[in-house]
Amino acid sequence: MADIIKLLPDHVANQIAAGEVVQRPASVVKELLENSIDAGAKNVKLIVKDGGKTLIQVVDDGLGMSETDARLSFERHATSKISSAEDLYNLHTKGFRGEALASIAAIAHVDLLSKTEQADVGTHIKIEGSEVVYQEVTVTPKGTSISVKNLFFNIPARRNFLKSDQVELRHIIDEFQRVALVHPNVSFRMYNNGTEYFNLSGESFRHRIVHIFGNKMSERLVPVEEETETARISGFICKPEFSKKSRGEQFFFANHRFIKSPYLHHAVVSAFEGLLKPDTYPGYFLQLEVDPKAIDINIHPTKTEVKFDDEHTLYAILRAAIKHSLGQFHIAPIIDFEHNQNLDTPYQYKTKEAQLPTITVDADFNPFQEGNSRSGLKGSRAPKSTEGWKELYDFENSSLGNRGVLQVESGVVSPEVFESDEENLTVQQTTFQLQRKYVISTVKSGLLVINQSRAHQRILYERFLAEITVKQGIVQQLLFPETLQFTAKEMDTLRSMQSELSNLGFEMVFDSKEQLKVTGIPNILKDGMVAQVLEDLLDSYSGEKGIDQAFSQTEWLSRTLSKSLAIKTGQYLSPEMQTALVNDLFACKEPKLSPFQKTIYVIIDGNEIANKF
Ligand code: ADP
Ligand code: MG
Repeated sequence: MADIIKLLPDHVANQIAAGEVVQRPASVVKELLENSIDAGAKNVKLIVKDGGKTLIQVVDDGLGMSETDARLSFERHATSKISSAEDLYNLHTKGFRGEALASIAAIAHVDLLSKTEQADVGTHIKIEGSEVVYQEVTVTPKGTSISVKNLFFNIPARRNFLKSDQVELRHIIDEFQRVALVHPNVSFRMYNNGTEYFNLSGESFRHRIVHIFGNKMSERLVPVEEETETARISGFICKPEFSKKSRGEQFFFANHRFIKSPYLHHAVVSAFEGLLKPDTYPGYFLQLEVDPKAIDINIHPTKTEVKFDDEHTLYAILRAAIKHSLGQFHIAPIIDFEHNQNLDTPYQYKTKEAQLPTITVDADFNPFQEGNSRSGLKGSRAPKSTEGWKELYDFENSSLGNRGVLQVESGVVSPEVFESDEENLTVQQTTFQLQRKYVISTVKSGLLVINQSRAHQRILYERFLAEITVKQGIVQQLLFPETLQFTAKEMDTLRSMQSELSNLGFEMVFDSKEQLKVTGIPNILKDGMVAQVLEDLLDSYSGEKGIDQAFSQTEWLSRTLSKSLAIKTGQYLSPEMQTALVNDLFACKEPKLSPFQKTIYVIIDGNEIANKF
């Protein structure tokens, strides 16, 4: 048989490697930003068009490259960062594989302009799909500028696989934030389609966090500081009362690299034990510094998982450090053994006038007189007449029997009574609440148990969907318009939902780049809730199961708002509220499932109950 093995041509090998390194525009952003940091840049500018599909450009004022280096940088395994395998165990740079530029150039149109401090002129190289189109001497400032255009132009399958511009942009912003957070001494600017999203000058870590996530962050941060032989931990955690339902503001950096570590995340969460609202996560921005020898970041070019030599110790140190901070800044509740709760005045009594006790005495009262309605002994302790006791055992005529209690036991189960839940969902008027979580009622076939929170989500969800489509949300004008601060990125997100929000009854004026004035709110909202609701929306938008998984923006918005506004477990419902909830639920198109596809109610069949006896 003839030999069949051949070496792949370079451009094919590069395209294959590109599949590993470049998954989406955000991967390019990460590689280019990291190269600029490695080159010692003090000012870095990121310019993006159409979610990075049309253009990603990074301009820096770093070391720059000589003519030869500029050309070489696009070769595979061309790197200035390591020269032997040992160097891998002493890495202080982000890059070391020499793969990124070669991979990017294999699947896009790339323009590189670069000049070193010493050189008089710079170099301009144009590469399209691994082929150098031209190389020229050019006038350019010190540093490097790389533009990546038409990503995946030669791999249509990959290009079609990209998500909407909005979603790709969000991934880009995530990468940008990760790099910007861990290099607060470097100035970063970012533009998308001509709009400035971030303008961060060199500053402290704390300021960087605040500038990225908005001024509201400032009051939320609590410093964490710990130094041991194994590791140095520094950074901030967010106060527990600001914990959020979605993940998002959780950042670990190991030796100045963003990492994901469910194990260390657990350490943080466990340190907050008992301080968090249910189903919420604390925010944190933590930097770990360990000996480069004790960490393996070599697992995958783009993955963010790392391996620490001594994870258990790190877990314990991290947990202790956070507990310490929470305690030190008086965030953890202090148990006061001296305090006698019996002496506390209930809150609602504080403003009430004190009333003098009054006593009325009935001079004619005779406790031995039969049938005395004012008998001092009431309820079960009252001596009952023994006359009617036989009645209790006389089922046929007993008053108990007539009240129907025994009919369930003796009644013959006729099949049609239990046929279909749907037909028999005539809910009785009597309802009650169980464990402040369920509303219980009866239907023909048995006991109806409704999850109050999910039921309300469904009701609101259908209402919001209708309001957005028919534009019928009722506006409640605010007497005092509320001014809210957001980051430029958040403002952009809100702007993209403005028409849907206004259909629901939100009246908003986009005052400036980072300020929003709310003049009207949907009538279902209470004054003062609007900030929280908009924050919930933004959280969910950027969360892991964010908008990309929804059918449409309208659907997503209705779902998120319904969750944010629905009554929660633990909330007391008056009998009127219970009845309204049940009636509204069964007026819904789909009363069985919550907008999050969870079961809203179950019917405990009469048979099942009978079997228990
Ligand atoms: P790596 O970063 O793993 O070394 P890259 O393919 O990302 O591999 O880059 C190859 C080389 O090109 C780098 O080692 C560096 O010498 C040079 N380089 C890339 N980007 C820049 C930049 N912005 N400024 C200066 N040199 C750069
Ligand atoms: Mg690199």
